[in-house]
Amino acid sequence: MPASLLSALDGTLFIDGEFRPGAGPRLPVINPATGERIGTIAAATGDEIAAAVAAARRAFRPWARQVPRRRAEALHRLGDLIAADAGAMARIMTLEQGKPLNEARGEILKLAEACHFYAEEATRVHGETVPNDQPGFRSLIVREPVGVVGAITPWNYPAELVGWKLCASLAAGCTIIVKPAELTPFTALAIAAKVAEAGIPPGVVNVVTGKGSVVGQALVAHPGVDKIAFTGSSAVGLHIQNTCPTIKRLSLELGGNCPLIVTASADLAAAVKGAARRSFRNMGQICIAINRIYVARPLYDAFVAALGQAADRLVVGNGLERPDADVGAMASAEPLEKTRAHLADALAKGARLVAGGQAPEGAEFARGFFFRPTVVADCTPDMQVMREETFGPLVGVAPFDTLEEAIAAANDTPYGLAAYGYARDLTEIERLSAGLDYGNVALNNVDAGIMNAPYGGRKQSGVGYEHGREGLLEYFNFKHVRLHHGVEA
Ligand code: NAD
Repeated sequence: MPASLLSALDGTLFIDGEFRPGAGPRLPVINPATGERIGTIAAATGDEIAAAVAAARRAFRPWARQVPRRRAEALHRLGDLIAADAGAMARIMTLEQGKPLNEARGEILKLAEACHFYAEEATRVHGETVPNDQPGFRSLIVREPVGVVGAITPWNYPAELVGWKLCASLAAGCTIIVKPAELTPFTALAIAAKVAEAGIPPGVVNVVTGKGSVVGQALVAHPGVDKIAFTGSSAVGLHIQNTCPTIKRLSLELGGNCPLIVTASADLAAAVKGAARRSFRNMGQICIAINRIYVARPLYDAFVAALGQAADRLVVGNGLERPDADVGAMASAEPLEKTRAHLADALAKGARLVAGGQAPEGAEFARGFFFRPTVVADCTPDMQVMREETFGPLVGVAPFDTLEEAIAAANDTPYGLAAYGYARDLTEIERLSAGLDYGNVALNNVDAGIMNAPYGGRKQSGVGYEHGREGLLEYFNFKHVRLHHGVEA
């Protein structure tokens, strides 16, 4: 049961195939639905970080030399073990992150799917041969694993965002050191327990906990780490890029400020349903959450009214006690404060409150970080909700007159992660799909990321990809082998 699993993981680091008690100071981990302390993590010390890097380096060559089928088998075992224990792992996630239990379980099962997807991809990595201008030569393009990966992850998807990096690393033949977010470390440690159970060799996967500015930064600085795979805010991503002391491979999956455009030809009911889902799921704490919505003027009033009703219908609950709640607590005080600040800014600048705007009432919400899904209408471009990532359950809506104007407004941002559109007119669909300057564009649906297709941002939303074959290629170096075989005929 999670209580005993949690206490077994309390204060531990996973290094070289073993859980060991951390020597550094302890940091509390809080249940955001109740404010209660659920355990502590150890701030990894310099020696412990060095031990994790040394273990990953030792394990790298033997792991990379395994035939891909062996690595695939290990990933399949890991996926099976994770799926078999999804209930207990989900409870850990809900306890530390706040999302409803059913949703947490869904995330754990998607992590298991990622294991199986990358297990299959592992056996399909192939190179190329390239024609030469001179006879007697052949060029081979070979893919070789990058080496030791430092994975630094945020708290909003504590299993999947670790999993994509871990699965792709293992499939490619890399080894990995995971530094999970301070708020949600136990999900990562629970994944490490499954790694051990799956018989994955010591050192191939390591987990070190602690503050990002210390432990994360130590991985960025360490000469034994060949690549940093980071998911988090644009500010920290930029900081990592600026402070990396040596040349390293970097993949940076960063923040967004994602627009939805609803054109005059859209299916209104479908657009409202999509908007409610992608604005508020996980309390809006999704990098690809819809932050701002532009609606063609003829549909505007009806859309705003229906989205307000959809937001009001969402059930907020303590994720453990209400496993089927639509949304749970926010993960900490910080995103809640930012949501309140963006709301206050919008209202002060003339926005109209359509739904939410406050914490839900009731004793059960008194000590957690709860807020009602909130819709503000008649928004203008100067409002923070229309310009910055809120990362909370708040969405702004504004009308538009021409599609050019809407696409220009959607693109008028330093971010380029995901954009959404609802339209039935084929020319509008084509103009949206070609005109939106984003790494992911979802039209007439709001699920911009699927496991089989590359997922990545543009501009300040990052570099590199996760998911799909492209996500796996991030973990390889290409080697050009130019062979003179001398056969000229
Ligand atoms: P964050 O940037 O504050 O922290 C992310 C991770 O970086 C944490 O593990 C943290 O400890 C670590 N970190 C902090 N300072 C560091 C430093 N100086 N050096 C190395 N590591 C450091 O982000 P967060 O608040 O945990 O997560 C929310 C952000 O993540 C949002 O901006 C969201 O959009 C983004 N995000 C992006 C994606 C994507 O795929 N593009 C997915 C999920 C979340």
